Formats: sequence, structure tokens, C-alpha cells
Amino acid sequence: MRYEQERQSLIDCALQMKAEQLVKGSGGNVSLRMPDDLVLVTPSAMAYETMRPEDVVVVDLQGRVVEGGRRPTSDLAAILYVFRHMPRVRATIHTHQPYATALSLVADELPADFVTVIDELNGAVRVAPFTRSSDEGMGVQTVEYAGNSDAVILKHHGVMALGTSVQGALSAAVSLEEGCRCYLAALATGLPVAHLTNEQIADEAEERGYYGQPNE
Ligand SMILES: [Zn+2]
Repeated sequence: MRYEQERQSLIDCALQMKAEQLVKGSGGNVSLRMPDDLVLVTPSAMAYETMRPEDVVVVDLQGRVVEGGRRPTSDLAAILYVFRHMPRVRATIHTHQPYATALSLVADELPADFVTVIDELNGAVRVAPFTRSSDEGMGVQTVEYAGNSDAVILKHHGVMALGTSVQGALSAAVSLEEGCRCYLAALATGLPVAHLTNEQIADEAEERGYYGQPNE
């Protein structure tokens, strides 16, 4: 079986996504684009807790199943659209995380008004208009609304988080949930929301160059 380790990394990521309460049941999905342009995706509607590496489906960029006996996630067309149009993206996770989804009903973006959003998400995260689920449209909107960000909030639906690895995409989704939770708490007070200036945002983004340990 090809990519056994990578297949397991998708399952581990899906379990973490669930532990972080970004999905319930078998909701959401995880995908990873391999250097040979084959794509690993989680299967449709299977419990993550009992999922085995052989349940992960290998497809090509056109959606043809190359390896695996399971039906791929119903969002496959959207995911492949993202991979075909965003070379910087090597992994996606799709969630129904509650705070980001709630925010999509009352705002057009999560603004870059606090450090988490600037440092972890590369700036404001936009809300894309509603499209039917399990449709390529979700991918089209993700490409259109992502910009430099590592996530897009899908109105009335959930989130597409992007990364160069499944852990990177997961971390974007977790940071986004923290940011949305914080911003909604601020909005709920009914008081005016304070904003950072573009200069302050740029300055904070620059600081990011220092953060962490060298050679990691
Ligand atoms: Zn969904």
C-alpha cells in the first residue's frame, strides 16, 4: 500500500479535528496533495475512530480513484478545485466549527484586529457566500476568497482551512476558531469594536519573523 504513513497522518489529523470540537460525528474531511500530484482524501461518512489507513482514498487531480475501495468524501470536487488552482496549498481540512460558522451569519470577515489572526492566519479571514455543499462551488469560492489567508469561512456552512501540511491546515482551523470566538464575544457586548491600523497590522506581521526557535 502506497503512502501508509501519510494516510495515517490524515486519520490522526481528523481525530484531532474532532477532539478540538471542529466537527461532530463523521463530519468534515482531510486531504493531502502528494509530490506526484496524487491526492489522499478521507472517505465519505466513516467514523474517524475506526478508520484504517486502507480506508483513505487515493485519487488523481481529476477525481479518478487510483487506489482504495471506499467512496471519497462528498466534497472531493471542491477540494480538487482548490489543489488545481492554488499551488501553495498542499493540504486542506473542511470543518463545521461552530464559532466560525456563527460568525458567517453576522459578518463578512474575521478582521485582523488581534494577534492570533495576524500571526496564525496571515491576516483577516473572509466569509465566502453560500454555495450548495458537496459541490465544486465551495472550492471556487475558497480560491476566490482566500487571498493570502490560510482559511476561508463558508457562509451558512463551515470552514476550508489550508496549509502546506495537514497539521498546518489543522492549526489554521484551530486558530480561526479561537479568533472567531473572541470576536463574537466582543460583538456580543454591543460596544464599538476597536480596530488595528494597517500600520500596526504590518508591524505585528513583521514581528512574526522572530517568533519560534531557529532551525525548526
Ligand atoms: Zn461541510
